[in-house]
Amino acid sequence: MTAGMAIAGHIDPVPVPRAFPASEDRRVDLVGLSRDSIRTALEEAGLDDRQAKLRSKQIWHQIYHRGAVDFVAMSDIAKPHRLWLAERFTIGRPEVIEHLVSTDGTRKWLLRTPDGNDFEMVFIPDADRGTLCVSSQVGCTLNCRFCHTGTMRLVRNLTAGEIVGQVMLARDTLGEWPSQPEGRMLSNIVMMGMGEPLYNFDNVRDALKIVMDGDGLGLSRRRITLSTSGVVPMMERAGKEIGVNLAVSLHAVTKEVRDEIVPLNRKYGIEELLAACAAYPGANNARRITFEYVMLRDKNDSDEDARELVRLIRKYDLPAKVNLIPFNPWPGAPYECSSAERVNRFSTIIFEAGISAPIRRPRGRDIMAACGQLKSASEKKSRAEMDRLAEEKLAALA
Ligand code: SAH
Ligand code: SF4
Repeated sequence: MTAGMAIAGHIDPVPVPRAFPASEDRRVDLVGLSRDSIRTALEEAGLDDRQAKLRSKQIWHQIYHRGAVDFVAMSDIAKPHRLWLAERFTIGRPEVIEHLVSTDGTRKWLLRTPDGNDFEMVFIPDADRGTLCVSSQVGCTLNCRFCHTGTMRLVRNLTAGEIVGQVMLARDTLGEWPSQPEGRMLSNIVMMGMGEPLYNFDNVRDALKIVMDGDGLGLSRRRITLSTSGVVPMMERAGKEIGVNLAVSLHAVTKEVRDEIVPLNRKYGIEELLAACAAYPGANNARRITFEYVMLRDKNDSDEDARELVRLIRKYDLPAKVNLIPFNPWPGAPYECSSAERVNRFSTIIFEAGISAPIRRPRGRDIMAACGQLKSASEKKSRAEMDRLAEEKLAALA
């Protein structure tokens, strides 16, 4: 029963056992479904066309605008019908295993999927905004050498519902229902949690469409940023079909160093990546591409590296800004963070060339919530063990 599903990966595609997507609860979870899919689900459950159309509209509004978590509260739907719905459908949220709050106000949630995979989500409050850092996969198939998530063995794509469910859960916690256009704490979203979003393209796209829907979560695409380590063949589609801001994890300016720290570079090199950035639909001076650059001592942080970065950005005539990320340590990491003076000097060289290069202030380090520190306990179980658990659970259901 372990029908493997391959997730694209650089060196070895990781086969993902999908033995038990169905839980004991046979009801269908509506979160993550498009309007049309909700309508189809209602039709399949027995509603006629007209009813299904009307109900799906109401349900959509209740779920995504009002944040309803059960049908009982849907006062615009007749009572017998609410019961009928509750017997067939659910409105899920990821299960919260742990919720930590940092001394700087950053929050980290350890979440669990119905089939027992753990992943993380982080909320970073600031004076004028709040950014939710959302995961796209449990683990990551790419093994960037400086990233804790990359050391996880267990990988599975999160579903669209599990992705949009993170945003909804954050709204629950912050008390921000119903959706309002202005003044919310959760104002921005970055696809910078666990995983490579462009290796889970369809689910990320479907989830973000719901997040951006005017009668859904209502966040503007200008407030959403998708970060990729450089999956070149998917970048154009990301621009066309999702259309959010793009961040690219560049981290190095020579083939030698990038091959080492971002192994995907062996497949899609720097020049190819920058050409794809130049062609990214919708990038212009008002909507710049962010280049993320993690500062690793004696690895990628010399003056020469900074000047080469400027040269490359100019060569491709990119509307770019650079985000310098001090390396966040994790147990056993093979690198150290550059000194503060080095990071400042690097930033100055880029600024002096007329390109914005702020230094990102690390947040939530005390709860291991900072960039690249996310790694859930999921990996503690081996693949064989996960398969065995899956079989057991199936057997119990049979
Ligand atoms: N997989 C995507 C998005 C998630 S990672 C990507 O790689 O772009 C979000 C950002 O954190 C990336 O720029 C990543 O390179 C960076 N990062 C990873 N590990 C880090 C660490 N230990 N310290 C600082 N930044 C790190
Ligand atoms: Fe994956 Fe991004 Fe970490 Fe690289 S930096 S291993 S792509 S999550």
